[in-house]
Amino acid sequence: MTTSEIRQDYIHDRVVIIAAGRKRRPHDFPPTTVVHQDQGPATCIFCPPQLRDVKALLTIGRGLHWTVKVIKNVYPVVHASNPKAYGYQEVVIDTPEHNVEFADLSVEHIAIIIDVFGKRIRTLERDSKIKYIMTFKNRGGKAGASIAHAHSQIFASSFVPPHIVDKRRRAEEYQIQKGRCYYEDLLVREQKGPRWITEDGHFGVIAPYASSYNYEAWIIPWRHVDNLGNLKAVERQSLAAMLKHLLTKLSTLGLPYNLFCHQLVNDKNEHFYLRIAPRGDVWAGLELGSRLIVNTVPPEDAARFYRGEGKKRPSKKRR
Ligand SMILES: [Zn+2]
Ligand SMILES: [Zn+2]
Repeated sequence: MTTSEIRQDYIHDRVVIIAAGRKRRPHDFPPTTVVHQDQGPATCIFCPPQLRDVKALLTIGRGLHWTVKVIKNVYPVVHASNPKAYGYQEVVIDTPEHNVEFADLSVEHIAIIIDVFGKRIRTLERDSKIKYIMTFKNRGGKAGASIAHAHSQIFASSFVPPHIVDKRRRAEEYQIQKGRCYYEDLLVREQKGPRWITEDGHFGVIAPYASSYNYEAWIIPWRHVDNLGNLKAVERQSLAAMLKHLLTKLSTLGLPYNLFCHQLVNDKNEHFYLRIAPRGDVWAGLELGSRLIVNTVPPEDAARFYRGEGKKRPSKKRR
């Protein structure tokens, strides 16, 4: 007998095996060594001297005293000149300073980065061919970051990934059946439960019931708002504070992570959320073959970790 539990999320189409006893949790190990291919500020392509002659799509600040800069991705897989893979890829350089972690930036600075995302989203949306925009961040070795200088990315394409279309269709069906938004119901349902992490007047944060990743967390606005570009200043400030709090906490585990935020451009009824996806477990044959994902950190434990309540207390029954 194992204590594993299969959990399904119908809206997001994922089946997860929560397997707490499968192995020791990552925080029982010394922090993972995050592999940087760091060449140092003298040659780093995101450091101010190397960017002096690069045409920026957007700069916050002036001259060498900028705060955040957006440039074209020099290795794009989609391009506005390619009708067979149409789109845009941009890099948001989070800070002029080399080797500063995103989580170590001030709340005000992170709020500026969120505002920059919004500004670029509104610009990219003007191209009527663009149907899908993802804003994301890769931090650390396994999560795919190749440059040590803190940066985020924007991917905009004429093509919408099928699982995003399917997720939206199921959320719409829920809304038609229940007469309420799925994500607002989710917040209310989880608020008093064991997977609730934190909240303020603008956002609630949960460890999702069928978390695919160790310490996965979703930051969900209480307000029905469809993308980052439509946040009010006070909401950007709140989201920045939430991100800083959660990522600072996460950094004590030394896990690489991704941040994701999806957007269907022509769908104004979406309820957006920001997903923090730390990369603790390695997905191997079982996950890749069956698409059944094994998560060795129950979301109830993850929520307790973020709440600062220490180690798991033994409990047989989980909701
Ligand atoms: Zn740099
Ligand atoms: Zn909503």
